[in-house]
Amino acid sequence: MERGQMEPVEVVCPVCRRTQIVYLPVEDLPLCPDCGDVRMVIQELLDEGKSY
Ligand SMILES: [Zn+2]
Repeated sequence: MERGQMEPVEVVCPVCRRTQIVYLPVEDLPLCPDCGDVRMVIQELLDEGKSY
């Protein structure tokens, strides 16, 4: 039985675009350390073929 397995996801600040890795499941998404009270949002995993 697997237990304590966590999934890493990238979160991004919608204001300054700072990214950070968090591990799911997480109760609360972290606040941006730069913006203070801005909650970071989960960013979709980047695809290699994504055009920029
Ligand atoms: Zn920020």
